[in-house]
Amino acid sequence: MARTPTSDQQYDVIVVGVGGMGSAATYHLAQRGLDVLGIERYDVPHTMGSSHGSTRIIRKVQPEGPEYVPLVERAYDLWENLEARTGRDLFHRTGSIHAGGPGTDVVEDARLSCEENDIEYDELSGLSVNERFPGFELPDEFRAIYQKDGGFLDCERCISAHVEAAHAEGATVHGREQVIDWSETEKGVTIQTDKRRYVADELVLTAGSWTTELLDSLAEEIVPVRALMAWLQPEKQELFTPDRFPVFVVRDQEEGGYGFPIYDVPGFKFGRSSDLRKVTDPDEMNREPAVAEEELHRRYVKKFFPEAAGPTISLRTCIQSYSPDTDFVLGRVPDYDSVTVGAGFSGHGFKFTSVIGEILADYVDDGETVHDVSEHSIDRL
Ligand SMILES: Cc1cc2nc3c(=O)[nH]c(=O)nc-3n(C[C@H](O)[C@H](O)[C@H](O)COP(=O)(O)OP(=O)(O)OC[C@H]3O[C@@H](n4cnc5c(N)ncnc54)[C@H](O)[C@@H]3O)c2cc1C
Repeated sequence: MARTPTSDQQYDVIVVGVGGMGSAATYHLAQRGLDVLGIERYDVPHTMGSSHGSTRIIRKVQPEGPEYVPLVERAYDLWENLEARTGRDLFHRTGSIHAGGPGTDVVEDARLSCEENDIEYDELSGLSVNERFPGFELPDEFRAIYQKDGGFLDCERCISAHVEAAHAEGATVHGREQVIDWSETEKGVTIQTDKRRYVADELVLTAGSWTTELLDSLAEEIVPVRALMAWLQPEKQELFTPDRFPVFVVRDQEEGGYGFPIYDVPGFKFGRSSDLRKVTDPDEMNREPAVAEEELHRRYVKKFFPEAAGPTISLRTCIQSYSPDTDFVLGRVPDYDSVTVGAGFSGHGFKFTSVIGEILADYVDDGETVHDVSEHSIDRL
C-alpha cells in the first residue's frame, strides 16, 4: 500500500524524475521487491520534458549502431509484457521507412543495420514507396528501406502504464515535488525536496535535461536541446492513417525529418531533425514556436508529403538531453557508492525506455547489468 508522506521517510531506492526512464526504473525496481519512491517535479505524465506529444518511433532498424539492436529487441519484449500486464495499448505496428536522396547515407546505414543483425527488410525506389504508401511523394532517385516491425509507442500512456504497474508492485510516486539537493552518507543517501527530506539506500537519477543540476560531474557532458513537433491537417486524411502510412525517417542533402501517421492529435505529426537548438537553462527555454520555425516545417512536408500540408493544427516544443557522442549515459556514478544514472538519451531514447528501466534496476540490485551497454557506460566520459 502507498504511504502517505511524512518527514524523513526511509526507502530502499529513490528515483528522481518520473518521466520516460524514471517511470520504467520505478517499475523494474519495485518488481524486484524493493521499496521504491519516485519523485517528479511536474505532473505524471507532463509536457515540460522529453516524453510528451502522443507518439515516439520504435524501430528494429538501428543505423545508430549494432549495439542498439539487442537492446531494442529486449525493449520490444518488455513493451509487450507491459501491455499484457496493464491491458493498455502502447505499441502500434505500422512498419518503418528510412529514405534518403543522393548524397545521404540514410539507406546505406539502414541496410547495413538490417544485414548485420539478420533483420528482414525490403529495399524500394522512391516511386515504389509512393505506390505502396500514397501519402509519400518521394523523388524517384530516392531509395528506401522498409522494415515491417517498426511503429510507434503512445509515449504518455507508456509512462502511465509503467507507473500503474509500479503501483501494483507497491511503489510510491510523488508528483509535483522537486528534488532540491541530495548527498551521500555512510548509510546511503539523503534527499531534500521542496516539501520534505528522505533517506534511502540507493539513488537513481533519471532527471532528463535537468540531470546536470543534480550531478555536477555531467555538467559539461549533457547538453539540453530544444526540438519542435508539428501537426498539420492533411488534405487527404485517408492516406495518413496507421493502417496505410508507416513511421518514417526521410532526408535529402538539405534537411532531415521523421514522422508518424495520424494518432491521438488530429493531424499528421512530424519533426525536423535539422532544427535542434542548444539550451543553456531548461527552465528558461522558449517554449513558444516561432513563425519562421513553422515555415521551415511546412517546407519539409510540402517537399515529401504534399497531401499532408494542410492547415497547422498544433506546434509544441520539447526539450531533450544530448551526450557528446549521442550514445546514452548509464551506470553507477563514479566517486559515489549508492548512485546510478540514466541520462543523455540524445533524441532517440524513448523506444528503449522499457529496457533502460531494467538496466537501471540491474545496477541498483547487482552493481552491474546483464545487458551489453559498454558503448553507453558513464565511464567513457
Ligand atoms: C521532439 C522529440 C521527438 C523524439 N522522438 C523520438 C522517437 O521518435 N523515438 C525515440 O525513441 N525517442 C525519441 N525522442 C527521445 C525520447 O523522447 C527521449 O530520449 C526520452 O523521452 C528521454 O526520457 P527521460 O526520462 O530521460 O526524460 P524526461 O521524460 O524528460 O524525464 C525526466 C524527468 O525528470 C524530472 N525532473 C527533473 N529534475 C527534477 C527534480 N529536481 N526533481 C524531480 N523531478 C525532476 C522532469 O520533470 C522529467 O519528468 C524524442 C524526443 C523529443 C523531444
